[in-house]
Amino acid sequence: MTVLANARLVLPNAVQHGWLRIDAGRITALGPGAPDADASATGSRPDTNGSGSDTTGHGTGAGGTVSGVSGPGSDANGSGAGVSGSGSGAHEPGTGATAPVTGATAPGTRAAAQGMAGADAEIVDLGGRYVVPGFVDMHMHGGAGHSYQRGRADDARQIVEFHRAHGTTTLTAGLVTGSADELLNAVSGLAELAADGLIAGIHLEGPYIARNRCGAHEPTLLRDPDAAEFRRLVKAGGGHVRMITLAPELPGGLDLVRAAVDEGVVAAVGHTDGTAAQVREAFDAGARVATHLFNAMRPLHHREGGPIVAALNDPRVTVELINDGVHIDTEVARLTFNAAGADRVALITDAMAATGMGDGSYTLGVMDVEVKDGRAVLAGGTSIAGSTITMADGFRRAVTVVGLPIEDAARSAALVPARALGLDDRIGSLAPGKEADLVVLNDDLEVERVMKGGRWT
Ligand SMILES: [Zn+2]
Repeated sequence: MTVLANARLVLPNAVQHGWLRIDAGRITALGPGAPDADASATGSRPDTNGSGSDTTGHGTGAGGTVSGVSGPGSDANGSGAGVSGSGSGAHEPGTGATAPVTGATAPGTRAAAQGMAGADAEIVDLGGRYVVPGFVDMHMHGGAGHSYQRGRADDARQIVEFHRAHGTTTLTAGLVTGSADELLNAVSGLAELAADGLIAGIHLEGPYIARNRCGAHEPTLLRDPDAAEFRRLVKAGGGHVRMITLAPELPGGLDLVRAAVDEGVVAAVGHTDGTAAQVREAFDAGARVATHLFNAMRPLHHREGGPIVAALNDPRVTVELINDGVHIDTEVARLTFNAAGADRVALITDAMAATGMGDGSYTLGVMDVEVKDGRAVLAGGTSIAGSTITMADGFRRAVTVVGLPIEDAARSAALVPARALGLDDRIGSLAPGKEADLVVLNDDLEVERVMKGGRWT
């Protein structure tokens, strides 16, 4: 059992100074203030987002000190196992934060927590740091020099490990347009990893997308929607193809939307030149996501709103946003949140192999990509070819640049994509019963520690 104490818990609608208990990989209870011994007796605390919420934020219980995880000297119990990982990697050098200094309230907090959790519990005093739900990235293609396109387990593991270190605890593996054989091979390979729980499914971005909105997809491999081929891919994926991005205005587009719904695959509208009316038809047929809104789609015109207006105006639809400051202007990001509300905006990375690697030459599918100053473009062209951000980057930018309240940014980075993927019963928010996937952030919203399924990574 682990108790995170003295934390600023970012709940779906508030920030609450309090504690959170984890047992067997799940969040079992949380509450305001110091851990309460009574809470352990019942094992639950249903009122988790009501009274005592602290929306003013800053360090109410920490007394201004940064204590980090429990200092070894202050743990009266001396249960070494209880203070695992005592701060290693969790602090910037030179800030003084690594010293085993506990704030004025910490000893009391720890005593209460210890009483509640038992002697063998791990008590982690977070010194007023934020805890947000683990980020959920529903649209990404790689990182750390690797992509999913070859369907290789080793590539996928390194991608997952890289992004997890940056707070992404759930992600889908995105495949860009490829030949039928390439996609079948990749889907089969990735399906095994999905079955193992490494990835939360596969996102097919293409190949049924619009030629004039293909962005960084190889134009010669694009094809009209083919429900039979799609069903072969779904079969090869063993139930793990979770989303497909397509252009619904292409011949057979609406049939493909229906086939996706029939197969339990989320249909997403993207890389589309459809009119608002055509895209609305796709939503009526069951499409529920707009893929990287604004990017690689017919732009908004005041007499033909196109996919953007159709998506923003439809309460059934989740819109993806690449909040990297390159794909979307900050004011446009603001407009999107104002129009759709944080509950319908999913922050995504669309990250490609170069993420975490620096400038240089990379590939996206069969396309060559140059990365300069963190900006990925097709070699010899101007098309943006994915991003080089992590979810933590997009989340932080949503708060510090776009200006969202932290709880709204956290919903868009976790609960909204989890819901869009049908996973919100298990993940996406700090709530009893959900998996203990969470991220500890400092005041600058930088990732300090990441927990997946109750384990620090
Ligand atoms: Zn993509």
